Amino acid sequence: MNFVEIIARKRDGFELDAAEIAAFVRGATDGSIGDEQLAAMLMAICIRGASPAETQHLVESMRDSGARWRVGDEAPEAVDKHSTGGVGDTVSLVFAPLVAACGVPVMMMAGAGLGHTQGTLDKLAAIPGFRTAAGRDEALARLRACGVSFAAQSREIAPADKKLYLLRDVTGTVPSLPLIVASIMSKKLAVGAARLVLDVKCGPGAFCKTPVAADALARALVDVARRAGVEVRALITAMDQPLGHRLGCACEVRAALEVLRGRGDPRLRELTLELAVDALALAGRPRPAARVELERRLGDGSALARYRSMVSAHGGDPDESKLATPRQSIPALAPRGGFVEAVAAEELGWIAVALGAGRRWQGDAVDAAAGLEVLARVGDRVEAGAPLATLELGHREVEAGTLAARAAAAFVIGDEPPSRMPLVLARVGEPG
Ligand code: URA
Repeated sequence: MNFVEIIARKRDGFELDAAEIAAFVRGATDGSIGDEQLAAMLMAICIRGASPAETQHLVESMRDSGARWRVGDEAPEAVDKHSTGGVGDTVSLVFAPLVAACGVPVMMMAGAGLGHTQGTLDKLAAIPGFRTAAGRDEALARLRACGVSFAAQSREIAPADKKLYLLRDVTGTVPSLPLIVASIMSKKLAVGAARLVLDVKCGPGAFCKTPVAADALARALVDVARRAGVEVRALITAMDQPLGHRLGCACEVRAALEVLRGRGDPRLRELTLELAVDALALAGRPRPAARVELERRLGDGSALARYRSMVSAHGGDPDESKLATPRQSIPALAPRGGFVEAVAAEELGWIAVALGAGRRWQGDAVDAAAGLEVLARVGDRVEAGAPLATLELGHREVEAGTLAARAAAAFVIGDEPPSRMPLVLARVGEPG
């Protein structure tokens, strides 16, 4: 069948069969379908949705678009972790060395920035020399060497997600439950760790804006994982404001190092600990003892030491002074005094992208030095004229004044202290 007819069937709300979905994924993988038709299909799925059967076909076709590493056969105790995409979400950079320092290996198939969110791969790329695994042997060798291995979609593994991920990033087709499920689970299953911790973000700064949407996404991810025999836990967590106080690539590496040194942003630290407890619980550790051990590893320098060996094992330079620094910092000032009632995380994420921390089109360069520091959080009292955020300018030419005004407007300031959202909203996939 002509691929235009398949696009039209999806556009008109028909359910696609396994062969039609396989044709779409094959075309994305081997380049036989052009970007315009792939993007049209992505938009049709984004608008029309997909049935559970279509989503499962998409996951399986994308999983099988490249090699399957079956890491669980070699390292059954290895755990993978994934976030559905947040702002200031630096968890993976702390989680991986921290969990490994507790004796649980972490095999993480990570992603680059998507839409207004910054991705783990772009942050790792800010570490000079850091290389993700290109093949199974290399990935497993790193896992054995330091207890952590980061991988990325490539021509070898999850190539369909590599192509579609980049297209979705620049075509406004990210916030779609079936596309998110297929993207995350296809690459997780291709790598094949037997255990998985999921952080499903919920709120104005996430792709799922409501608890109902986040619950549906969490359940869909958990169902696909379970069907594949993966032991899984999913947390639904708040994205009502940026998670940590730094957004961008080099600056999020710095935020991770602050937590690994036993200090750092309290929200980033707390959510990392929550997810890490789940990872250790999947490995059979009792939860209270897991929490105590994780806190000890952050306090005694062993998680930080593991970060350094992890970076070296990936060819990177762990020296923090080698990270890119901004050429200029510009404050965004409070137009009035009062209490911070809300911080528009998505808007701050887009500002970080505009500054250079994300891509505006396929092939756009990410600027490791660019980013944003959030200085006021929901509930804080601020004075008129106080800095709410600092824009960190890298190499990209930007309208800094306009972006600083947009950043200031992302903070809603009122007269009353607001109620605060808990960080963990719900758990999905607990046994029993
Ligand atoms: N992370 C992914 O890998 N894919 C998505 O679609 C969203 C978050």
